[in-house]
Amino acid sequence: MFCPTCGSEIDDNATICPKCGVPVKPYSTTATTEQKTNIFAVLGLIFSILGGWLGIVFSIIGLVQAPKFGGKGKGLAIAGLIISVIWVVIAIAMYPFVLAAMENALA
Ligand SMILES: [Zn+2]
Repeated sequence: MFCPTCGSEIDDNATICPKCGVPVKPYSTTATTEQKTNIFAVLGLIFSILGGWLGIVFSIIGLVQAPKFGGKGKGLAIAGLIISVIWVVIAIAMYPFVLAAMENALA
């Protein structure tokens, strides 16, 4: 990103401009500032598609952290959470059938 005070190109993670020493606001909403991808939301969606508790965990983190990424990944996190919940519902719905199949196999 670029320092809003002196215009020097500085590290995206920098909180203070090394050229002029003026504090730089991270995740500024100015058009020239690139926003980072909300990796938790992305991971949440990937794990939710694979089916697992990690999908729920990462999606919740992604949703909570979304404001820090300028709102990025909020939609992904919600999608990941919904898919994860569907997997859990399917798993619970299948449980009696799996149990019955196991009892038949043991009988
Ligand atoms: Zn500067």
